[in-house]
Amino acid sequence: MSKREIVVLGGGVGGTLVANLLVRKLGRRQAHVTVIDRTGRHVYQPGWLYVPFGGPPPKRWERPERGLLSRKVDLVVGEAQRIDRAGHVVQMADGASYPYDDLVIATGAHLAPDTIPGYAEAAHHFYSPEAAVRLRDALAGFQGGKVLIGVADIPYKCPPAPLEFTFLLDEYVRKRGLRERTEITYLSPINRVFTIESVSNFVTPLLEERGIQHEEFFNTESIDPVAKTVTSMEGTELGYDLLVLVPPHRGVPLVVNSGLGDAQGWIPTDKQTLQTKAEPLLETGTSVPSPMAARRPTSKARLWRTGSLPRSPVAAMDMSTTGG
Ligand SMILES: Cc1cc2nc3c(=O)[nH]c(=O)nc-3n(C[C@H](O)[C@H](O)[C@H](O)COP(=O)(O)OP(=O)(O)OC[C@H]3O[C@@H](n4cnc5c(N)ncnc54)[C@H](O)[C@@H]3O)c2cc1C
Repeated sequence: MSKREIVVLGGGVGGTLVANLLVRKLGRRQAHVTVIDRTGRHVYQPGWLYVPFGGPPPKRWERPERGLLSRKVDLVVGEAQRIDRAGHVVQMADGASYPYDDLVIATGAHLAPDTIPGYAEAAHHFYSPEAAVRLRDALAGFQGGKVLIGVADIPYKCPPAPLEFTFLLDEYVRKRGLRERTEITYLSPINRVFTIESVSNFVTPLLEERGIQHEEFFNTESIDPVAKTVTSMEGTELGYDLLVLVPPHRGVPLVVNSGLGDAQGWIPTDKQTLQTKAEPLLETGTSVPSPMAARRPTSKARLWRTGSLPRSPVAAMDMSTTGG
């Protein structure tokens, strides 16, 4: 068997794991693995949840990607601009190009605040380091009032994160002696507070015990930053003093520029198997933003267990893909 040239796009959780697993399983004789990452910094995104409440600053949740990769994996720091599927080449923004036999796309999701009118001016979130710091500063100045917490759009990564934020906020305002002056409402886009019914049944009484209100079937349509109101597609209008909404997510520009995305830039997958539809691709991620994935995460270890390369030249991972 000739040596395969494998390129992994993205040095996040998915790309780092798959690159390390591939070299461990295949060894240098069977494959040469290269990770291409925009920043060369690996970010532990769950850490951003704690930043608004005075937790460690964003830098604390970053590490050099090089230190997390096997020494057998090469790392290129730079922006991949386009995938030339016909030529089996990744073209970089700086003009360089990287040929591949097999390609793994693990470039995550792109935040798209501009897709909801009023969002960029009015809403806070904790889905980027900068936004988490801004929310920390807003909370430091918060003296009570109406707080709305929810999601601007679906799909989004880490479905429990806004609920976790809600409980942390409740604790935070209690500690500051502001709970009596604070009304907290959790907005859910579906018919219960969480996608998984058993989790929802567990969490709902916990919200109610703490005096946290919940509003179901609230899918954000628009925000009026002057009137300080948010309106749902279902026709409900709610006022706020502080608005915390997970921002809209879309597929990354690289996927769009390469003609691999659907209307929102996601790589389309089969709902049942999560395999990509464009060609017989292998999906290996855990938090694919599909209704199915919300209930039953796929195994990140599938590629590893097969002990072989995917049959196709491209594998799409995690937040690059969507079922539907
Ligand atoms: C607040 C918060 C809390 C979370 N909590 C949890 C949790 O408790 N449990 C859990 O399992 N998950 C959690 N998640 C979700 C988890 O962090 C993501 O699912 C995970 O990071 C996705 O991994 P990924 O490799 O697909 O993408 P990412 O980790 O986003 O990595 C993508 C990488 O691709 C790079 N990239 C993108 N475009 C290009 C390009 N054109 N060229 C080169 N490089 C590029 C980026 O720089 C980045 O390094 C949370 C997320 C957030 C925001």
